[in-house]
Amino acid sequence: MNEIVNYSMFIDGRWTEAADGKRLGSVNPATGEDWASFPEAGIRDVDAAVRAAHKAMTEGPWSRMTASERGKRLRRLADLLAAQADDVAKLETTDTGKLIRETRSQTRYTAEYLNYFAGAADKLEGATLPIDKPDLFVMTIREPIGVVAAIVPWNSQLMLTAVKLGPALATGNAIVIKASEHGPVPLLELARLCAEADIPPGVVNVVTGLGDPCGKALTTHPLVARIAFTGGPSTARHIIRNSAENFGVVTLELGGKSPILVFDDADLDSAVNGILAGNFGATGQSCVAGTRVFIQASVYDEVLGRVAERAKRIRIGNPMEEQTEMGPLATKGQRDNIERVVAASLKEGASLVTGGSRPAAQPKGWYFEPTILACETAAVPVARQELFGPVLSAFRFKDEADAIAAANDTEFGLAAGIFSRDGGRALRVMRQLRTGIVWINSYRASSPIAPFGGYKSSGTGREAGRESLLDYTRTKTVWIDTSTKPMGDPFIMR
Ligand code: NAD
Repeated sequence: MNEIVNYSMFIDGRWTEAADGKRLGSVNPATGEDWASFPEAGIRDVDAAVRAAHKAMTEGPWSRMTASERGKRLRRLADLLAAQADDVAKLETTDTGKLIRETRSQTRYTAEYLNYFAGAADKLEGATLPIDKPDLFVMTIREPIGVVAAIVPWNSQLMLTAVKLGPALATGNAIVIKASEHGPVPLLELARLCAEADIPPGVVNVVTGLGDPCGKALTTHPLVARIAFTGGPSTARHIIRNSAENFGVVTLELGGKSPILVFDDADLDSAVNGILAGNFGATGQSCVAGTRVFIQASVYDEVLGRVAERAKRIRIGNPMEEQTEMGPLATKGQRDNIERVVAASLKEGASLVTGGSRPAAQPKGWYFEPTILACETAAVPVARQELFGPVLSAFRFKDEADAIAAANDTEFGLAAGIFSRDGGRALRVMRQLRTGIVWINSYRASSPIAPFGGYKSSGTGREAGRESLLDYTRTKTVWIDTSTKPMGDPFIMR
């Protein structure tokens, strides 16, 4: 029997239990066994967290701190995270099953996201306007928007939190983060580092619990002004409805069914690696997973054959071991769903190229083989539903027009990959893809400097990059009469 590690949540600078004492468990996906427990926040706990954030923004030292000082605190947080990345990464791997080699590099790189926003803290400026009326001086200033509710899933959660916390704090807001119920521990570690970085109590709060009541109470709270959500489209619909209660400004980073297009003039080594990265990296549990692969007919057999051959050799195993290339899925529910959808797709005419089962060598934990299905039609469920797992659907195409039409035939629009050595073609195709991100001759790269977000059911708004900073501010317009005369006729609008 494992020893269970007990975590608390972080509200107003204090480690806190749920008011009603309820707790939830976290399962290690590599073993299928409970390893940690954490509070199940209810409405009262969420209310306490939001009130603490509101107080920190309106009364606390945070509200009086200069932007430069806020930037320094954020930078301190970044330094602490980078220095402790290895320990945090081990916890994330235990909690979510994500490979240690990726959690380690991603945690270090998350510090760069915080640094990016730290540097921006004192570079937000207002404007003076060349107003079209005499004797008036008009300026705009940028103010913090208000308490931010950040809702995140379990995958890449530190990075997905940094793109919310970074701009929120740089611009002077306070934040309540709702961690995922499927692996909240890395965010509780982040809360500990916030305290170490001297970010004042109440500025960053982390609550743990279920979507309903915890996430619902947070996104409907009257003191919340901004909701930054990352998760699935069906939850996003709840979020939008919830925001009707507080008119919170909402951004949504949702799922995808991203296409990868391989033309016959591509560097096929790159294309094969791009397809592998897009489908089997992070065990396919990536919002930008390139799960619909379109290959030009003349190179279809060669490309698919090479991808399948490499997929069969992927080292599946304990995510804590350095040499492992694919770990388990994060939850049993995900694996069950993947098995259902793969079986239904095979029944509807897709053919199995490789995989399709639980690996025999991993009897425990939520493992599933790297799986490739060759599809004649895009109507099969595997080609339409986001599975969040290592399952690729392959299609052949004739020409550019055919490829573009097929790639756009989806409700999603997060990312796309194009492999071609013809620069003109790559740009021509890129312009016609209805997605927020396009990688040309590459796949699955990200940076704090580059905006991230989707079209259609993949979401609204962008995270990272300069424009995301403004989403955490409001503009105030200030009119000043500079004349020596009293104000004129009160019955005519000036
Ligand atoms: P999910 O939508 O089930 O949950 C996301 C978060 O929302 C969790 O913290 C959950 O507790 C919370 N939630 C659930 N119901 C809620 C409610 N009624 N009110 C408020 N909060 C609620 O998603 P998941 O299964 O944890 O994560 C996978 C999904 O996230 C996939 O669809 C994936 O594509 C998406 N994702 C998107 C991006 C991106 O940046 N575009 C990145 C990573 C993951």
